Amino acid sequence: MTFQPTIDRTDNNTIYAPPLMTHQFPSLSPEQKKALSDIAQKIVAPGKGILAADESTGTMGKRLQKINVENNEENRRYFRDLLFSSDPSISNSVGGVIFFHETLYQKSDSGKLFPQVIKDKGIVVGIKVDKGTAALNGTDGETTTQGLDGLSERCAQYKKDGCDFAKWRCVLKISNSCPSALAIHENANVLARYASICQQNGLVPIVEPEILPDGDHDLQRCQYVTEKVLAAVYKALSDHHVYLEGTLLKPNMVTAGHSCPTKYTPQQVGMATVIALRRTVPAAVAGICFLSGGQSEEEASLNLNAINQVPLSRPWKLTFSYGRALQASALAAWQGKAANKKAAQEAFCTRAKINGLAAKGEYKPTGSADQASTQSLYTASYVY
Ligand code: 13P
Repeated sequence: MTFQPTIDRTDNNTIYAPPLMTHQFPSLSPEQKKALSDIAQKIVAPGKGILAADESTGTMGKRLQKINVENNEENRRYFRDLLFSSDPSISNSVGGVIFFHETLYQKSDSGKLFPQVIKDKGIVVGIKVDKGTAALNGTDGETTTQGLDGLSERCAQYKKDGCDFAKWRCVLKISNSCPSALAIHENANVLARYASICQQNGLVPIVEPEILPDGDHDLQRCQYVTEKVLAAVYKALSDHHVYLEGTLLKPNMVTAGHSCPTKYTPQQVGMATVIALRRTVPAAVAGICFLSGGQSEEEASLNLNAINQVPLSRPWKLTFSYGRALQASALAAWQGKAANKKAAQEAFCTRAKINGLAAKGEYKPTGSADQASTQSLYTASYVY
């Protein structure tokens, strides 16, 4: 195939614009595309979402500190084992689990490697592949996300080790000067490059452009920024020839800033969120799995339920990929004591079941939510 330069005769000068790419060169075979889309569909099958258990060692330490448990490898393993070895019915509401590197190579009390424990339940194994944020110099504290170096080799290894999807988190923030055009553009591009590398290695990329809830902005401002960020992300994914049917989006819900004086109902959050998504996310995307972003467990469930009740057509699955909002009650019940293991597992299963219902718009709160599930899980400038 040869390409002719496009000639743009705007005035008497002839301007040679870069050649337009009128065809896509082959990147994924039909078999590769099918495999990716099958994985994505399995993760977000009706009533299913994702357990994000990929907290870095430092973030896990903060969780454990709250219940006075030492942050060592065994305690991290023990808590993850508690979650992963919950009742098999968990697979009715959890379609995927995201691992942190360390956890992928740990074993359950039964001696089985964790990925196998998850697969035996019919749940898909995922892995966090980004290497955290780095400053975008010259901006007001904005960041990009690192980890592209060696990513293809790491993805190939993770695929061999049982993973079928990956996660990469980019972070944006709202203030008078943020997000800057640079932050929007840079994060969209790095997400697209990551997604392209994942797909070449048979991993479904979860594309996560998280807009932090820090600030006093109102719902409308968050909606506006979410639309701009998502529009840029999908332009970049298109530019990088990413196969959308083999991707999942992990966005923030559209909520007001944490210190906004106006409080909004789940119905208002649901409507603003669905409007923003309808304006920016192609219908080809397999599913949209929200992060909980510091909402209490109950708030995150009510908002997801409201999103799934918005009376507008919603061409994608709208479900959860919660970290804090799926683990808070379980951690509170556990308190680092083996005797509490069963109670902690039950707390986790209860939240997963509620979120599974919310993913279908079928959650009917009983009004008896316990204390742990209504507690805010917000941390300023959250690092994962
Ligand atoms: P939260 O649900 O705790 O916000 O975390 C989800 C996650 O995976 C962030 O990358």
